[in-house]
Amino acid sequence: MVLMNPGPVMVDERVRAALTRPDMCHREAEFSALMTAVREKVTRVCGGGPEYSSIVITGSGTASLEAVISSVIPSGGRLLVLDNGHYGERLAAIAGRHRVPCVSIERGWSHPFDPAQLERALQADPQITHVAVVHHETSTGMLNPLHAIGEIAARHGRWLIVDAISSVGGEIFGVCEDNVAWCIGTANKCIEGIAGLSFVTAPKKNWEALKAIPARTYYLDLWKLYAAQEHQNAPPFTPAVQAFFAFDVALDLMLEEGVGARHQRYAALAAQLRAGLDAAGFELLLPAEHRSNTLTAIYLPEGMNYSSLHDRLREAGFAIYAGQDALKNRVFRLANMGQITAADIGRFLDALGRVLASSAGGRAGLGK
Ligand SMILES: *Cc1c(COP(=O)(O)O)cnc(C)c1O
Repeated sequence: MVLMNPGPVMVDERVRAALTRPDMCHREAEFSALMTAVREKVTRVCGGGPEYSSIVITGSGTASLEAVISSVIPSGGRLLVLDNGHYGERLAAIAGRHRVPCVSIERGWSHPFDPAQLERALQADPQITHVAVVHHETSTGMLNPLHAIGEIAARHGRWLIVDAISSVGGEIFGVCEDNVAWCIGTANKCIEGIAGLSFVTAPKKNWEALKAIPARTYYLDLWKLYAAQEHQNAPPFTPAVQAFFAFDVALDLMLEEGVGARHQRYAALAAQLRAGLDAAGFELLLPAEHRSNTLTAIYLPEGMNYSSLHDRLREAGFAIYAGQDALKNRVFRLANMGQITAADIGRFLDALGRVLASSAGGRAGLGK
């Protein structure tokens, strides 16, 4: 099966092989060394220098998001969420669940942000201490203007929290040049590790300042997780040891390829996919200037329902992805992250063409 869902992605054979290494105790020196190596490589992938540090959490990307949102905002603080899709909505929902004071700028799904709106919101509300944004809004495929947002947040002295779960490794950005105070990512999307680990990268001074902020959860207490990994060189709880083996190999492959080169590889696959979709008459949700390089949201042709498209492509060996919430049954999504090749994309476009030709609406239903 060729996976065209936005994670977990298809991984390199060497990443999968690492899962079968001999068992290891997480309280022994070997694991400390592995964990430290993984943390340092994560920091490098995120563009952080020696003044940055990362921690790795056993749990999917949401675990790290929830750890950050529930741990970094003091009781007198306030979070401003920039929301233009499912994952933006979730940032506010997580804040709400932990009773973190939170306001949102809602742009509506697939609408781009105007950075001037953030500027005005920060000027108008001095209570806001933190701003949170999703870098790549995976529900629509929109890449939000992180650099402009980071510049405004820094100029106004606010901390920027970035959900980079579907962009880190695949898009060009850096915690340093984009003024990111807290960067959240995952092992199993563009870094091409296996599912089960996620991470947080931040300047060391931000980490140290957490000590003074009471945590709202026990397991996801970011200060406790950091203090254990950074100061005791040990995880506080039992980690997914085998997932660490695989993540370490994936990070080596990532750094060997280079963030720039991986971005180029993904961009070429996205361009190939989009050219094929365009030639077949499909209409994409977003204009070209707002698209990420790893996910494409496509309007479902009139007369075609998602589940039949999904099932027919699945029979042909391709896993595609549905639209979420408001876009359910209006769009379908195709990701080109992970170990997917130009040949896979070519075969996918052929299979899609066959499904279209034989479906009731056929090409005539595309309206192009
Ligand atoms: C995938 C994704 C998440 C959720 O990650 P899980 O690993 O499923 O918890 C959060 N934010 C964005 C932008 C994502 O793409």
